[in-house]
Amino acid sequence: MMGSGLTKEAQNECVFCYENMLPGDRICQLACHPKHKFHEACYDSFSTHFEANGYPFLCPLCRAPVDKSKVTRHVMAKPGAALTAAEENEKAMAYEMSLMNNAKHMGVNDAL
Ligand SMILES: [Zn+2]
Ligand SMILES: [Zn+2]
Repeated sequence: MMGSGLTKEAQNECVFCYENMLPGDRICQLACHPKHKFHEACYDSFSTHFEANGYPFLCPLCRAPVDKSKVTRHVMAKPGAALTAAEENEKAMAYEMSLMNNAKHMGVNDAL
């Protein structure tokens, strides 16, 4: 074979275990970038390991400090599972709403 280039898509690869993240896998997504996501189990074991040693856990892709409160956990949608995608959307919207409610609760005024 002439071409020795890698043909695999790297964007779905978990940098901890080098396995692809597949539909149905549990995923942790960091707030630093939409594509900075990893297997939940990999993320959990590494972040726990770092913290146990007293080190801050940085995103392995961009070195941004990881804000644990902004890490979102979800199950990777199966291809063609439109219902699941819609449900994810609905959950995201509910989350946005709760943020808005929190903002109001804290006395932030909407300039309408
Ligand atoms: Zn992994
Ligand atoms: Zn990142």
